[in-house]
Amino acid sequence: MQLENLNPLFNFDEMPKQELVNSILTGQDILSVSQFDRDSLSYIFRRAREMREMVHRVGGTNLLAGRVLACLFYEPSTRTSSSFIAAMERLGGSVIPITQGVQFSSVSKGETLADTVRTLEQYADTIVLRHPETGAAKLAADYANVPVINAGDGAGEHPTQALLDLFTIREELGQIDGLKIAMVGDLRYGRTVHSLTKLLMQYNVSLRFVSPEILRLPMTIMNQVIDKNIPVRETHDVADVIENADVLYVTRVQKERFSDLSQYEDVKDHYEITTEIMAMAKKKMVVMHPLPRVGEIHYAVDNDPRAAYFRQVQNGMYIRMALLAAVLGRA
Ligand code: ASP
Repeated sequence: MQLENLNPLFNFDEMPKQELVNSILTGQDILSVSQFDRDSLSYIFRRAREMREMVHRVGGTNLLAGRVLACLFYEPSTRTSSSFIAAMERLGGSVIPITQGVQFSSVSKGETLADTVRTLEQYADTIVLRHPETGAAKLAADYANVPVINAGDGAGEHPTQALLDLFTIREELGQIDGLKIAMVGDLRYGRTVHSLTKLLMQYNVSLRFVSPEILRLPMTIMNQVIDKNIPVRETHDVADVIENADVLYVTRVQKERFSDLSQYEDVKDHYEITTEIMAMAKKKMVVMHPLPRVGEIHYAVDNDPRAAYFRQVQNGMYIRMALLAAVLGRA
């Protein structure tokens, strides 16, 4: 067909930016944070705020009525799986929950990931996948015809967690540019740290990485930070960063990624955020954690208004509502 004869459905030049972003996300796999630029992030954040308001006012809507989400989890989860389920249900859709362990599905009979997703797409409009191997979400997306959303692939990425983390920073502190953000704990295997660091590279921030030697941020990600000229420092000691940090992002040592458990034992109790440490921090700052915590933040810190980790959990649902609506084309 001659180009002149084409009658485009959309004229992208005339389309308002927000709608353009939405149409770009529709039908897309969400595999990595590298798919998001500042425009698409502010679009998702705006939609998440609308979702929050709607939930507070009326609890739910029927925006995704008739749509089905398959939640396929090959690794344990509390927040990611429940928030995707809650998000889908509050939008009027329904869920196939394979979240209590794939041992109850045909995976235990030896079915491949490819065949499992090709089966689930016969029933569902999108698949949320958590898997212990880096790259599994991409592999699933190569086989599936419906959008695949990466809910954590090994030590790779956890893009929807990073979206909710960034949203939490924005909502708690009113801005992202100009902040000093310190990440503490398992920076080597912590996929949430990998995804959040990549997202933050789009902003004018300073980064501080606090970890034991063996859990330092992978060089590939550190090199990207350096290439972007982002002010960055590495240290072993929280005391080096606590006084200036606007965000203290604390993480658990990822026991399940260690091949040598004695190495895990050596580093597992390396950091504990106590009320004494919080006394050294700024008045206006936030402590975040993707959770679960296994001792890195003392319970006594929970009453501190700067402890944002449970508000962070709630934000996860609004962000996933915004994302599902966009991916399923019902913004
Ligand atoms: N829940 C987060 C994840 O799945 C963090 C963690 O498990 O430590 O990556």
